[in-house]
Amino acid sequence: MCCFIKYINVILPISVQNLFTYRITEAEASFLKKGMRVAVPFGKSKIYTALVEEIHETAPTKYEVKDIFQILDEEPIVTEKQLLFWKWIAEYYMCTLGEVFRTAVPTAFILESETIVFKNHSFTEESMLNDNEFLVFEALTNASQLTIQEISKIISKKNCLPIIKSLLKKEAIKVKEEIFEQYKPKLVKYVRLSEKWESNEKLGELLDSLNQRAHKQREIVLTFFQLKTSGKPITAKTLQEKSGTSSAILKTLVDKGVFEIYHIQTDRVSFQPEEKEKIKELTEAQAEAFEKIVDSYKEKDITLFQGVTSSGKTEVYAKLIQRVIDAGKQVLYLVPEIALTTQLIERLQLYFGDQMTVFHSKYSVNERVEAWNHVLNKTEKSKLVIGVRNAVFLPYDNLGLIIIDESHESSYKQSLKAPYFHGRDAGIVLAKLFHAKTLLGSATPSLESSYNVEQQKYGFVPLTTRYQNILLPEIELIDIKEKYRKKRMNGHFSDRLLKMMEEALEEKEQIIIFQNRRGYAPILECKTCGNIPNCPNCDVSLTFHKHRKELRCHYCNYVQAVPHNCVACGSRELDTKGFGTEQIEMELEKLFPNHKIGRMDSDTTRKKYGFHTIISKFKAQEIDILVGTQMLVKGLDFDNVTLVGVLNADTMLNFPDFRAHEKSFQLLTQVAGRSGRFKKRGKVAIQTFNPYHQILQQVSTNAYNLMYKEQLHERWIFKYPPFYRVIKLTFKHRDYQKVEAGANWFAQGLRNGFQENVLGPTIPPISRVRNEYIRTIIVKIPPKQGIKGTKKYIQKMKNTFQAVAEFRPIKFIIDVDAY
Ligand code: ADP
Ligand code: ZN
Ligand code: ZN
Repeated sequence: MCCFIKYINVILPISVQNLFTYRITEAEASFLKKGMRVAVPFGKSKIYTALVEEIHETAPTKYEVKDIFQILDEEPIVTEKQLLFWKWIAEYYMCTLGEVFRTAVPTAFILESETIVFKNHSFTEESMLNDNEFLVFEALTNASQLTIQEISKIISKKNCLPIIKSLLKKEAIKVKEEIFEQYKPKLVKYVRLSEKWESNEKLGELLDSLNQRAHKQREIVLTFFQLKTSGKPITAKTLQEKSGTSSAILKTLVDKGVFEIYHIQTDRVSFQPEEKEKIKELTEAQAEAFEKIVDSYKEKDITLFQGVTSSGKTEVYAKLIQRVIDAGKQVLYLVPEIALTTQLIERLQLYFGDQMTVFHSKYSVNERVEAWNHVLNKTEKSKLVIGVRNAVFLPYDNLGLIIIDESHESSYKQSLKAPYFHGRDAGIVLAKLFHAKTLLGSATPSLESSYNVEQQKYGFVPLTTRYQNILLPEIELIDIKEKYRKKRMNGHFSDRLLKMMEEALEEKEQIIIFQNRRGYAPILECKTCGNIPNCPNCDVSLTFHKHRKELRCHYCNYVQAVPHNCVACGSRELDTKGFGTEQIEMELEKLFPNHKIGRMDSDTTRKKYGFHTIISKFKAQEIDILVGTQMLVKGLDFDNVTLVGVLNADTMLNFPDFRAHEKSFQLLTQVAGRSGRFKKRGKVAIQTFNPYHQILQQVSTNAYNLMYKEQLHERWIFKYPPFYRVIKLTFKHRDYQKVEAGANWFAQGLRNGFQENVLGPTIPPISRVRNEYIRTIIVKIPPKQGIKGTKKYIQKMKNTFQAVAEFRPIKFIIDVDAY
């Protein structure tokens, strides 16, 4: 029999529409499988990591086929199911498979010519490296960073990816990832006794062995044994503080072989459950909900579980998870980015210990690779994966259930880069691929989910009582228009809110103050000429950060020092308008000088551990009043908070977005839900200029159903989801004329197909960001119009658009279900 020449189609991690074909040798063909990576040449001199999508015998006709450089894996790292899932994402969200590839796998898996490589400075075991690896390592010592292309030259091999791969595995180097990875994981230094001295009986002997005059050394040893009783790991810091000794003394004892130092990376969730806990006994109401959920799965694959805040949804989830694990299947527990707190992880860890893996976007390359490999290798740890939206991309084998917690959260939607997918919807599709069940949990479901219940597409299970039957908080609307008129405002606080705060503090209870804007003030205005400093790159005013004495752009991170004089007229009289968390924090420090004030927003939590630190402090009651943005409302559970204050509910209600009302209802209900979770009924004070607003009325009476009906009606009237679908097109370019012309051309073309269902081009509220002018077009798809056909039409127009030389440089973004 004649031998066939074999080819492979590969996915390149770039945004080209097509797959590319390469030739492989017979030996390679017998080894290669779909889902393995290969290094391939691309363009003039580039090297890419590509993923094998198909192995076949058809030569490409349009271009001359090249050979691959090398096979990079011994086994597939991506499963066939994943490839199916990727294809769905690419098709549904109108992006390329390359873009999905890029988002789906840890960056360390996709090395390419331009990947930047650094030396890992904590790596010391050079003896582990072979000759080539050492050569690269040494080169990195001299140059602080190199691209893969440069490394290729150094070792004069056309393909150096396997060497890079091996260096990465040995943790001798690092590759550049997104911004998060720039934060070094914090290593906490711990002290333990060396084995020789471990038992308590040895204490006497140990003390004898120390020089009688070495008081300090004896002190530190005695303190150590004191602390040891608690059974908890002892940090070097605590030991030194408690014993009143210096690090030099500790070092002496380490050198003498009495103590050993070890490190624990605080965030890298280590699962050595000290004692696994039994899942809590469900209350009657919870048990009933649990049974109903199980029941609903006899008929439906997807169930909406609407439990009020603090009803104990997590306990019900835990029970369901246990059930699925017992049946030998995997569970994926999805949470929105901000809700993935240590609190939640710790809770689940107590129940599931070594059976779980966490997947977080703040994890480093290695941590993510680790998580990926656990799932790929079907280890014990992959029974329960808890993670943010990207966790839908892990290589599952045997999913039985996907839980989507806080399923109404808009942060499930990826909004900064393609694929612009929605974690909830992708989760539902993933579950389908596995014939698994989906549970959508929320106290305030999105309209779409409730609509699907109404349409009987989803099952529905309510849980209306809080744990221990504590009543939902009492919500009071405070009319601040009136308060301002009567001069009963102190800064941004009404007399009523202040009184409630005093009462709570009197009782030694804690308070949360919600203000959904960070910084000191969004506007700095000249009192003389009215000039407002704007960002030079964007069409927005700069936010005033008083503490750092900076003006900052929240869109592009541009920073400048606060000017002393107005740049336009030179006047020294500068005034602020509006307010943010920083200003509120300062007001509170003046109003309550004897209480501890804390602040939680993206400025104070930027570091990898910032969030955790503030939460722990608040939990430990080291903070009495916590001011924060919406970061603090999600899934956090504090026992001692009995009052939540919302300083101004109006900005969110007036936000120009068709979902503003729905979102305000959800956000305010969630914020309110932080109050009075234990022991006694909590209070909530919402300050507003418009206390008769229907949404505020509905929030204060907990009238979800009424809100749902009213909003749904408006969606129908104004042709929005869930009735009409929405695709948003965005055009960006530095040249105003160009973007204008391009967007107009596109809109015209769309109108030929979809008439009045094309809105725009529109100038968005922020019309320029990072020096690029922006135009948007909305395409609405009526219920009866085919979605696939519509997308095809748009895709065709896009192809034509990009074939026009004049339009090609315009950045073009398609966002399907843009809401
Ligand atoms: P939700 O997610 O619905 O807001 P949680 O699951 O956070 O509510 O539960 C609120 C609090 O009540 C948690 O501290 C939880 O541990 C406690 N809790 C809920 N159900 C039980 C139960 N059956 N037994 C003991 N504690 C419970
Ligand atoms: Zn001025
Ligand atoms: Zn800017």
